[in-house]
Amino acid sequence: MPPFRIPLSEVDLGPQEQEAVLRTLRSGWLSMGQETESFEKEFSQYLGCGHSLAVANGTAALHLALLAVGAGPGDAVLQPVVNFVSAANVTIAVGAEPVFVDVLAADEPTIAPADLERKLDALDRAGGPKPKAVVVMHYGGHACRMADIQAICGPRGLPIVEDACHGVGGTSAPTGRKMGNVGEIGCFSFFSNKNMITGEGGMVTTSNDELAQRVRHLRSHGMTTLTWDRHRGHAASYDVVVNGFNYRIDELRSAIGREQLKKLDANNARRRAHVQRYWKLLAGLKATGWALPFSEAGDRLGLPSAHLMPVVAPDEQVRARCAEAFRQAGIQTSLHYPFIPGFTAFAGKCRAEGLAVGRAFCRRVITLPLYPQLTESDQDDVCRCLLSAAAG
Ligand SMILES: *Cc1c(COP(=O)(O)O)cnc(C)c1O
Repeated sequence: MPPFRIPLSEVDLGPQEQEAVLRTLRSGWLSMGQETESFEKEFSQYLGCGHSLAVANGTAALHLALLAVGAGPGDAVLQPVVNFVSAANVTIAVGAEPVFVDVLAADEPTIAPADLERKLDALDRAGGPKPKAVVVMHYGGHACRMADIQAICGPRGLPIVEDACHGVGGTSAPTGRKMGNVGEIGCFSFFSNKNMITGEGGMVTTSNDELAQRVRHLRSHGMTTLTWDRHRGHAASYDVVVNGFNYRIDELRSAIGREQLKKLDANNARRRAHVQRYWKLLAGLKATGWALPFSEAGDRLGLPSAHLMPVVAPDEQVRARCAEAFRQAGIQTSLHYPFIPGFTAFAGKCRAEGLAVGRAFCRRVITLPLYPQLTESDQDDVCRCLLSAAAG
């Protein structure tokens, strides 16, 4: 581990998680059992959705979601250009083509409904790959413009896949529904730097029975019955109805997830308070060409889960200078995210026209330390460092 005095993120694991792991270990049942069943049930209750299907990680969740909505060769999956690479990678994995959509603005880096509509119309006219699904991503835990996006996707019969990996526990205006329970299908990651963690782990959520059944089959080799059912004497044999995967979570991780879910609301509230304080301490930057994403949104977008604290420098040079100052001060920062169409593996495999806002954002963003236990004095240090480096 690099010697950062102030890390980018920090886990919140305590005696409850330790006890949950030991309880599960002592039970001798390590996969497809009661912990996972309970984790899924509790997650569905929390989200207000019909089905939750626990999986190995967030990328597996996205892969299953795209397969469940039927995305494959000849299809286009529209998605925001400012995102982690998972959705784009699994789009290619299912044989479809990623069509990148620009984001709204430096201070609202979520998918731009107007550009989405423009690109859907262009695909219809061009007769190229057929739009099959729209992925949205609630950047930093701030909701996308879901009502506008639904108004575009609904009449076209296009399912919305929510990459809600940043958004666990947050809500989306105007309905107040939890992120991941607004579109047709939601995807979560419980990787070690997210708002709730299981190490590796993820969840697919939906209220559509048919999509849930497809994900359930695809998650577990395409088999019709599971080890747990056979163990309980419910079934003697099984059929394989689709060529699936093993994307299951295990009992130890589900047990940790159940404890993390209990802490989620309190931890998200602490994250929100830190973000508010960052916005206050850094407000002066706005006069010098910086953007503080979502700081002007109020509750217009919903209640954020406050996963990330991004700031957007006026240009690449200022970003580089500030990133170096942070490094020297022992403060870990990051960059959410590099421009996906610029990655080697996407050359010639995606549509990446008209992405000026997202391209500039990816060159200018810096992500500051944010986690529930962040102290005010550490936060003061981060802000002092940034303000002095920004002033040059
Ligand atoms: C973390 C993350 C993923 C991938 O989740 P893994 O569990 O690491 O596979 C996908 N999308 C976004 C937005 C993420 O933050």
